[in-house]
Amino acid sequence: MAGLAAANLLGRDGRRVLLLEAHDVPGGYAHTFEMRGFRFCAQVHYIFGCGEGGTVDTFLREIGVREEVPFVRLDPEGFDHVVVAGDRVRIPNGLLTFQSRLIRRYPQWRTPIIRYFEAVEAVARELDDDRELPSSWNPLVLASAALRFPNLLRHQRHTLADVYDKIAMPPHLRAVLAGQSGDYLLPPEEVSFILHVALVSGYDRGAYYPRKHFGHFVATIAEAFTRLPGCEMKLGTTVSRIHLADGRVAAIETAAGERYTAERYVSNMDPARTWEMIGRQHVSRAEWNSTRYEYSCATFTMYMGVQGIDLRDHGFGSHNVWHYPHSDIGRMYKDQLHRHDLSDPWLFMSTPSLHTDEPGICPPGHQILELCTACDYQYMAELRERDRRAYNVEKKKIRDRILEIVERDYVPKLREHLTMRVTGSPATNARYCRAPKGNSYGAALTPANVTLARKPVQTSLGNLYLANATAGMPSVSGAIGAGVKLAREMRNA
Ligand SMILES: Cc1cc2nc3c(=O)[nH]c(=O)nc-3n(C[C@H](O)[C@H](O)[C@H](O)COP(=O)(O)OP(=O)(O)OC[C@H]3O[C@@H](n4cnc5c(N)ncnc54)[C@H](O)[C@@H]3O)c2cc1C
Repeated sequence: MAGLAAANLLGRDGRRVLLLEAHDVPGGYAHTFEMRGFRFCAQVHYIFGCGEGGTVDTFLREIGVREEVPFVRLDPEGFDHVVVAGDRVRIPNGLLTFQSRLIRRYPQWRTPIIRYFEAVEAVARELDDDRELPSSWNPLVLASAALRFPNLLRHQRHTLADVYDKIAMPPHLRAVLAGQSGDYLLPPEEVSFILHVALVSGYDRGAYYPRKHFGHFVATIAEAFTRLPGCEMKLGTTVSRIHLADGRVAAIETAAGERYTAERYVSNMDPARTWEMIGRQHVSRAEWNSTRYEYSCATFTMYMGVQGIDLRDHGFGSHNVWHYPHSDIGRMYKDQLHRHDLSDPWLFMSTPSLHTDEPGICPPGHQILELCTACDYQYMAELRERDRRAYNVEKKKIRDRILEIVERDYVPKLREHLTMRVTGSPATNARYCRAPKGNSYGAALTPANVTLARKPVQTSLGNLYLANATAGMPSVSGAIGAGVKLAREMRNA
């Protein structure tokens, strides 16, 4: 989405832009795939930044398609339902409303609740002034920024658990308040507190779903681009080499052996992979080291078509459901990622066919249920490589266990109503979206990687730019924001 956003804006400036995409559809993780009458968005379920003045809203206006892409808001009284050990909490829009709701429900924990929301609001206010954030953080800039962004600077190296510890947050509420942790795929002990606030406050201003579904959202943006004079998108075209001459990019080459030359090049690929394609000898030590990050983790995803029941009768609707078997999210991640034990996983459950009345993503009389949880890439990829049968057995074991849990806690006899079932493992993510480690959000969203200086970059090669979830921010809004920022910088260069 970052590349598509930048391409659109540069094309509107009158530049000729060629967009090369390896997959047979645009959108990356936000692409939609079709199977037997169902249209599943590969990974994205709900987005933020769509309200007036938000990143997505502003971008769609700028490319002239805002009216074509209406959004529906997920239930403002509870767009995410977090279920910790059977205790269901609805997350509403409005941090104050959420705070009051929690205090009414857990009066014994009033103090840590108030202190948590104070910390979140302080950081959120400074993040809102994003446009004023300095573009570099040298000591001089830091000194003046200390006055304007004290909370961002104070929490730069903090995890969510550091903040919890400071305010003596009880275990149950640690899980409830990190209920959307699957959106950054890290437990409280590891996630950057600033990133946690960016996500929580982003959705707090409205959790949106495109009224005509994600396939239409991406297609409309892609068509706006290909309509521009001199702009073209080539699908099924994999960039495999980047050629240099005189310390600049001279051409790129595709897997099919075609060569393309341009004045300037933008890579929406993973930055580390981009540099590997160029070759270490051509990269400054600082740039090379900046891409030695740990990746965010991968996911196990299930896409299901359901008939003969209404999921609304089972706790689903215009919201997502987050299932946590107990309050120790850190232990769940250790079990799932390090011990490869998915017998009692956390689950994210979403029902896109209940988010909007617009038909078109499933046959009449059907509904869609999508499920997702954290899963180790290395383990699944190696298994697939070594023994395809064992890999399929493992996938089936995980899938069956997840269905058992959903039947036990949410939809009795779900399996009798499934008319469609597709499973994606971390290896699937890597294959279709070319994320090097099946990684969901680029670099892991730890304090080490979520620095205040994180943004799309012009590389030392001069005519090569990087913009994506890592060189920028993850999420659809984050990636579009990265593309917009980059186009602005290129405009002014
Ligand atoms: C399980 C999961 C759930 C998510 N849920 C949400 C959500 O609900 N809401 C939300 O906002 N975000 C969500 N995200 C995150 C969001 O989808 C991503 O952060 C965002 O789409 C990243 O955009 P991007 O531009 O960085 O790149 P990507 O989406 O990774 O796109 C990169 C593109 O580059 C192409 N490419 C790569 N290599 C080459 C090559 N060599 N040649 C040509 N093309 C190449 C790929 O095919 C791909 O199309 C989710 C992600 C995952 C994995």
